[in-house]
Amino acid sequence: MSPAEAKNQIKALTTELKQHNYNYYVLAMPTIADFDFDKKLEQLNKLEKEFPEFADPDSPTQKVGGDITKEFVTYRHRWPMLSLGNTYNEQELLDFDQRIRKAIGDNFEYVCELKFDGLSMSLTYEDGKLVRAVTRGDGVQGDEVTANIRTINTIPKRLYEGGDYPNYFDIRGEVFMHRKAFDRLNNERLENGEVAYANPRNFASGTVKMQDSAEVAKRPLDCFLYFLYTEKPVFKTHWESLQAVKSWGFHTNEHSRLCNNIDEVFEFIAKWDKDRFGLSYDIDGIVIKVNNYSQQQELGFTAKSPRWAIAYKFKAERVQTELLSVSYQVGRTGAVTPVANLKPVLLAGTTVKRATLHNANEIIRLDLHEGDTVFVEKGGEIIPKIISVNPDKRAQNAVPVVYRTTCPACDTPLERKEGEAAFYCPNDEGCPPQIVGKMQHFIGRKAMDIDGLGDETIETLYSRGFISHISDIYKLYEHADELKQMDRFGDKSITNMLDGIEKSKQMPFEKVLFGLGIRYIGETVAKKLAIHFKSIDGLMAATQEELVTADEIGERIAQSLVDYFADEKHREEIEKLKALGLQFVVEIKEVKLASEKLSGQSFIISGVFEKFSRDELKDLIEQNGGKILSSISAKLSYLVAGDNMGPAKLEKAQKLNIPIISDEELLAMIEI
Ligand code: AMP
Ligand code: ZN
Repeated sequence: MSPAEAKNQIKALTTELKQHNYNYYVLAMPTIADFDFDKKLEQLNKLEKEFPEFADPDSPTQKVGGDITKEFVTYRHRWPMLSLGNTYNEQELLDFDQRIRKAIGDNFEYVCELKFDGLSMSLTYEDGKLVRAVTRGDGVQGDEVTANIRTINTIPKRLYEGGDYPNYFDIRGEVFMHRKAFDRLNNERLENGEVAYANPRNFASGTVKMQDSAEVAKRPLDCFLYFLYTEKPVFKTHWESLQAVKSWGFHTNEHSRLCNNIDEVFEFIAKWDKDRFGLSYDIDGIVIKVNNYSQQQELGFTAKSPRWAIAYKFKAERVQTELLSVSYQVGRTGAVTPVANLKPVLLAGTTVKRATLHNANEIIRLDLHEGDTVFVEKGGEIIPKIISVNPDKRAQNAVPVVYRTTCPACDTPLERKEGEAAFYCPNDEGCPPQIVGKMQHFIGRKAMDIDGLGDETIETLYSRGFISHISDIYKLYEHADELKQMDRFGDKSITNMLDGIEKSKQMPFEKVLFGLGIRYIGETVAKKLAIHFKSIDGLMAATQEELVTADEIGERIAQSLVDYFADEKHREEIEKLKALGLQFVVEIKEVKLASEKLSGQSFIISGVFEKFSRDELKDLIEQNGGKILSSISAKLSYLVAGDNMGPAKLEKAQKLNIPIISDEELLAMIEI
């Protein structure tokens, strides 16, 4: 293949696979079989190896910034992971009950459990230790994701010694993300200019499939366990096994209930159909299992699922309403998001007037026409979604909704970056919602947190021509008298605001850096960059290669920084802010930490830590006179080990008899 051909193919495959990842993980609507995806990914991987010069740094074959790849070892399940029969109505549930009675008589119990909306996981324990975690995959074999699963706090890595658990067992359950964590992390993604996930389940499954366990550790997952598999029978009933695994330290769900008959099952269903919105996590139904194991055995399996269990799925509430119009919102990064304005309709207890349309692809997927009647659904999620269009109600001459080609705010032609679903308004200097959004981001609670200045005031001050750049905020005091004349403000509120602005000059560099609103630079990343580069000058001088050497900084973030600082306008603004007295250097605190306690000692830090980043630990060691080495040798004094450390390093350290200590032991050495 000629280089030109390779270049084209790499480009085409990259774009296509990115779109598939997006469809799969964000929209939850894959349009390609897993197998075909894998084949294309393999092809891309091969081409990139042969022609590395054409590889996109953000290629789907790389796990840049913690996105998806599919490179896991497949592992065959000791016991196949079957799915469950599904029903949506009560009659089918009565039929299920009848079938069971026919086969085993009337003397049996059911266990009712919530059906957690996550992804199922099979865990294997040997001698009380978690040795393997495997996804369901096709039911016969799945992906081995042990390192990622080990980051989940509620999954025991080791059971207490001497417990009455078998030497070998599999335990299965559902990995999920609590809705609160989902909202928080998803908002962070949006703020950082990344695409948001559609629901907690997709976020959880996207997370479990990440290559970088350190990134997984930052996303709080939880897991409820609900099936125990042992070589020899240990318990007589499922209920007993649930109590037992709980006593071994596993997280089981407290709402499971033993039911004597199908009427009690219906009661349970009715309760949770109503109460499910009050849970901190999403459920999509109820699972009903025959309790007694020997009765389960008698009932047996069909090819796909057990005959002794069934899932009753809740109907997501769905209503029809009319599409009134599509409007477009411009975010601070310039991303333009379409929103459907709907004829108000009551749904799951609230009046719905708007639904997000995500992006242009979604409009195409729905084949949305003006005046369409649409089906709107609200599951566990807060934001209602348009599921589909009712084609029967479409007027004959209805015209398709066409995504607009210019910015709704400033009329600039929109642009789309390759491989991205969103359209952008490139006019960042002249587009009002972008200008206002950037200033609002800067004063926000997580950034400069300026007292006495809020989002609305920013809008007013902008529309009256007082501010259009961050630096203008710091010159507002020059207009104090004019501002006091304005009917909206009182003397006192102006004074408060100006005080707040003055005080914010003391905010640390990491907050200023985050406040600048550089794409992909979220709160945590800003902190890492500040720690590593110490000042804006250091950061601006860093090349792409130097940037990626910092803790957790990938190619995508590095590229975004390089682009940002290459822009003359940005450099000028930074100079202005510097002159105004904002913090652009990390304040080297003369903290009492600094000591000579570690002098003469050398350290290597490896793995991930709950409370510290590696850079923070490094700083701590150096501030106390210790030295950081780059590779393990007999000269090394200590290996500071966190979670998910590479096995090779560990082995080498053990061979050389180097003491392995935890972060806490390190702190104890410096006594803080
Ligand atoms: P489905 O994917 O709709 O066929 O439903 C079967 C899936 O429900 C299983 O593979 C599990 O991942 C999931 N599930 C959620 N909660 C439970 C539960 N309490 N017991 C068994 N399976 C459950
Ligand atoms: Zn614009």
